[in-house]
This record gives sequence, C-alpha cells and structure tokens, in this order.
Amino acid sequence: MISANQAHLKSWIPVPEHSDFPIQNIPFGIIKMEGKSPRVATRIGDSVIDLYELYKLGCFESLPFESNDFDASSLNSLMKKGKLAVRELRNVLSALLLSDNSFLRDKSELHDSFLYTHDSVEMLLPVNIGDYTDFYSSKEHATNVGVMFRDPANALLPNWLWIPVGYHGRASSVVVSGTDFHRPKGQIKPNDEEDPIFSASRQIDFELEMGFITFDGKPLGDSISVAEADDYIFGLCLFNDWSARDIQKWEYVPLGPFLAKNFVSTMSAWIVTLDALQPFRVESPIQSPKVLEYLAGSGKDSYDIQLQVAIETESKVETEICQSNFKYMYWTMAQQLAHHTVNGCNVRGGDLMGSGTISGPSEGSYGSMLELAWKGTKPITLNDGTQRRFILDGDTVVMRGYCQNANVRIGFGEVKGKLLPAK
Ligand code: MN
Repeated sequence: MISANQAHLKSWIPVPEHSDFPIQNIPFGIIKMEGKSPRVATRIGDSVIDLYELYKLGCFESLPFESNDFDASSLNSLMKKGKLAVRELRNVLSALLLSDNSFLRDKSELHDSFLYTHDSVEMLLPVNIGDYTDFYSSKEHATNVGVMFRDPANALLPNWLWIPVGYHGRASSVVVSGTDFHRPKGQIKPNDEEDPIFSASRQIDFELEMGFITFDGKPLGDSISVAEADDYIFGLCLFNDWSARDIQKWEYVPLGPFLAKNFVSTMSAWIVTLDALQPFRVESPIQSPKVLEYLAGSGKDSYDIQLQVAIETESKVETEICQSNFKYMYWTMAQQLAHHTVNGCNVRGGDLMGSGTISGPSEGSYGSMLELAWKGTKPITLNDGTQRRFILDGDTVVMRGYCQNANVRIGFGEVKGKLLPAK
C-alpha cells in the first residue's frame, strides 16, 4: 500500500553511499532561501526539493492539497490534510523522482527552480508546535536516575511500570537544529546544608530523545486507542531535551520539571514520516506486570532506530560518547498517545511528544551526561584529552539517528546545538 517504501526504488537524483535520505525516506521540512518565502521541502541525498515549486508545476493535481499547504512557514497546514493525504503525497513524490520517470528528470532547464543543494538552504523549525509533552519511558534511564537520587533498592517509583509517566513541557522554547543558546540561570543548592543561591547552572546536560508529531486528534472528551495511535502520528524527529540538573534537583518536588527543562529543547529539521519507518518495526519489550487493558499493544509497536551522541569541542574535535537505540524504550509511542488521551485530553496537529531520555542496558548506551558520567563521579575523557562531567560553554552536542536493514537506510540527519556562556 505504501508504494514509496519499496526497497528496490532508485531516484534520478544522486544519493551518496550511507546517506540518510534515499528515495525511500521522503521526509518533510521547511526551507528558507534568499528572496523566496519559506516553503515545504523534501530531501533526497544532498538535494532539497521545493514542493511549492512542484505544486505550481501541477505535480500534485490528483491530491487534496492547496498552494498554502506548501507555501508555508510550517508543516501544520499540510498535516491538516491527514494521514492518507500525506501518504499519497509521499507516493506521488516517490513516483516523480524515480529514475525511469522523465517528467521532471528531463526538464533540466527547470531544475534550478525546484532543486537545491542542502547546504544552500536554511532549515527552519518544521512545525508550529502547539503543545509539547515529555515522557519518561526508558526503564534503564528511570532506574539509573532512581539509583542516583533516591534508593538503589527501590529505584523505580511504584507507578512507573503501570503508567507511561509524562509531564507537560513548554513549546515556545523548542528550536531547530543549529540554534545556539545561552547557559540558563536560576536557583541552585550546591550545598545541602546551606540556603539556595542564584547562579548560572553548573550542570548542563543533554537528553537523547526522539520526538513524534501528531496529526489532529479527536475532539475533547474522546480517546485515541493504542490500535488507532499510528493514524494520528505524522512522523518523528531527533530531539535533544536540554536539562539543567542542578536547577532540576532543587525545584522538581512536588510538581516536577519547570525551569530546568524549559530554557531550550532542540529538534532535527527533517520530520521522517511514521510511514517511512514501517520496515523497521520490531517487537516491543515484554512488559511485566501486564499493563492495563487500555495500554495493551500489538507486541510490535517499537522501532529499530540506531542513535548516537557526540560532543564537538570548540577546537572542532568530535568524540562519540553514546550509542543507543529507540527500540529500548519500555513504553511505546502508541501507549504514550493512548495514555495521554485516555482521560479525554485532546491532541492537535503539530503537538510534539518527547520520548524521554533513551538509555540502553550498557554504560555506553546511556542517553545523558548525568548517567554517562554517573552524577559527575566518572568523568568522560574526550578525544582532545579534556574531561567532561557535564556540558561546558562552547561545546556542541550532536545527535544522529538512522534505521538500517539489508536493503535500505532511513535516517534523520542530525540535531545539534551549541552551549554559549550565560548572559
Ligand atoms: Mn526529557
């Protein structure tokens, strides 16, 4: 049914070896070029394809889209058309870009008008995010944090195995990959015996997460079931949910994360559709105790997405510090969405759901500095010889992710952000 996913397809646009963006991907993003309005685009190899220009050429006449779905500064209008329309758009794009389709291929005089190199365009935040919710769905991460801050014998709180725990985050400070930001300030309490102080955070951390973007959900009062969840998920991005651990430690009781989390979160520029990820569905972790009926899944609601985190220092030396995988998550996206709406809460097109830090079973797979350097007790040595307990001013954190099987690689590119000194 999803013709765009067929592994044998080849495009007339070149795709370098190990590219995240073969013709089977067809992600969506928003580009900006000098002298042109922001518009919807897709990417193949190192080329970016301007979908507004293709719309004007009549490429999408069979589809229920209008010019302002593509002549747009976010994907929200396009997403309003729903899952089936976006699926058909991917299928039509795939057909247009196939190596044996001459319709666009042989109009070389037009290529400059819709085909750009990816380094010649600016990528904008792809979604106008209405609401942002962050989950806490990695058992390994929740266990590690529990061991460090509470009680090793009772690391998981009693509700954790029953509820996909989450909190409402802040949408206004979600930025696109490549956006630098300043070290946040706030209340910290470096010494347990003394009063808190006002200071720049001394413990800036990253959180390796995936985000998913929703289509319009159901009306207020209705719920989305686990079985229906896929129909309401547009696509996924890489997501760095930056955290200030010292601010977090002092403020989080009793209502949870606040200023430790809302100063900035960074998302990757290309949204990879859930459709494109279907070949990489894998079995979900066995859940024990058995979850309540409304959370029961198909058993195959997880995705095999290889993830990597690196720190690039100001001297441009990069060190890989983590390798993890989205399939490690205990709670699936479908369960998160079902739980989020089970009380009648409505989600809207363009809402962002963060997975929570994705830690795996081994030390090298932990998805935060807090865990990798174990609360500062095991500093990490970078390739330039310097050590890190947390992120230093001038450091750039880069996250990458891709799916790979014998036939095809579907990737997300990267999400990166640089920490600047406090203002
Ligand atoms: Mn988070």
